[in-house]
Amino acid sequence: MARVCVIGAGAAGLCAARHLLVEPCVSQVDVLEQATQLGGTWVYTETVGYDDFGLPIHTSMYKSLRTNLPKEIMGFPDFPVPESEKSYLPAKDMLAFLQLYADKHNVTPYIKFKHHVQLVKPKAGPNGELWDVSYKDLSTGVSETREYDYVFVCNGHYNTPFIPNIPFLIPLNSDVMHSHDYRVPEIFTGKRVLVVGAGPSGMDIALEVAGVAHRVLLSHHLSEKPRSVFPENMLQKPDVVQLDGNTAIFKDGTEEEVDVVFLCTGYLYNFPFLHESCGIVVEENCVEPLYKHLVNVRHPSMCLVGVPYYVCAFSMFDLQVRYYVRSMNGSFSLPSSEEMLHHWEQEKLQRAARGYTRRQAHMMGPDQGGYYSELSLESGAAPLPAVLTAVHNDSSGKFLHNLPSYRRDRYRLIDDNNFDRYYSSLAS
Ligand code: FAD
Repeated sequence: MARVCVIGAGAAGLCAARHLLVEPCVSQVDVLEQATQLGGTWVYTETVGYDDFGLPIHTSMYKSLRTNLPKEIMGFPDFPVPESEKSYLPAKDMLAFLQLYADKHNVTPYIKFKHHVQLVKPKAGPNGELWDVSYKDLSTGVSETREYDYVFVCNGHYNTPFIPNIPFLIPLNSDVMHSHDYRVPEIFTGKRVLVVGAGPSGMDIALEVAGVAHRVLLSHHLSEKPRSVFPENMLQKPDVVQLDGNTAIFKDGTEEEVDVVFLCTGYLYNFPFLHESCGIVVEENCVEPLYKHLVNVRHPSMCLVGVPYYVCAFSMFDLQVRYYVRSMNGSFSLPSSEEMLHHWEQEKLQRAARGYTRRQAHMMGPDQGGYYSELSLESGAAPLPAVLTAVHNDSSGKFLHNLPSYRRDRYRLIDDNNFDRYYSSLAS
């Protein structure tokens, strides 16, 4: 009987616990969560910087955020988002949904809140490999180490800002901020704002900031320019290559005066608690070696849930967890470590041959349907419905070309074929 540690009580950790708790081969499930409540990313707070326990603020939610995907594909396969008037929900509704999910599956009693995982190390056990997980109880300050058979890493991937290498950019001084610290647009009132990056957050935030700023320059290298009709004070620019005082110099040689540089440049995968003996390396935002973007190849009794992006997140978490649990209970066998490593190396080569950069090692987008099929075919886990992928792709196209208004209406599937180009042109 297996003792399992789940690190994090966001959507991925809750989903892991939901399946582990009903799994006969599992005897113990501990969900270690550093925060005071479940929900992870979806817990909005006005605070930026550090929390009451001196830990970096986890969430990157801003006050006005509404999902960029319709609720029809935001739920779990066995627990859809309840019917409501709107398709694109505010963060508080997503948080309430996760609470409902945890209640429905009686997960909350298994969450140890205010438990900050500090170190995870593999060790030899009498019948194979075990894990030592060390954590601090933030209420008492007492640290403890417990032994587990399996570790599910569900610590989230949208909280460590990626700061690009732009000459003379001094990270995070008063005139440079990252979207991780963005909450409300008013801080930019009357300013000339340079938004760097046109991923989902960059475009959304640039539009919101344009409502109060003197001017917004949206600098990006999407190969296909968004066709959305933006406000007059919002202009698109190519990559910014240098900052010289208040002057921003762009790739096409043009220069503009700016008051604030606002980095919407995304996030870094970060596993500060994994000891190097865990064998997981993150370079250029590629987490490796992972089999199927999930299983730690060097120590297969550890999985990292939620690494792929541009996916139907909650459904993918569910499939990844069901896949992995089936390997635990003997429904299928994972390949040997050598075979898994070979598979991962091959996948990297195939991605490179298709023009993906190393930073895009875990990007799915148009590949997501194939990824979901692979997971269910190999493990025998029930597949995800193909319509999820179709809606995700369609909604991404709407985001790109109808940003100011696409969330106003109830979602309807109209395939406009823009999505492939959006994914492939996204920031490298
Ligand atoms: P998280 O929600 O980040 O949860 C991780 C948990 O782990 C947290 O509770 C954290 O406190 C805990 N933790 C971390 N480290 C430790 C530690 N050392 N010890 C103990 N606990 C720890 N996805 C969508 O599908 N649709 C959207 O519209 C959408 N919008 C987004 C908007 C923004 C601004 C951001 C940042 C993300 C958005 N996402 C969206 C992605 C979203 O993050 C995922 O959908 C999903 O909620 C991630 O869940 P998670 O469990 O992997 O991570």
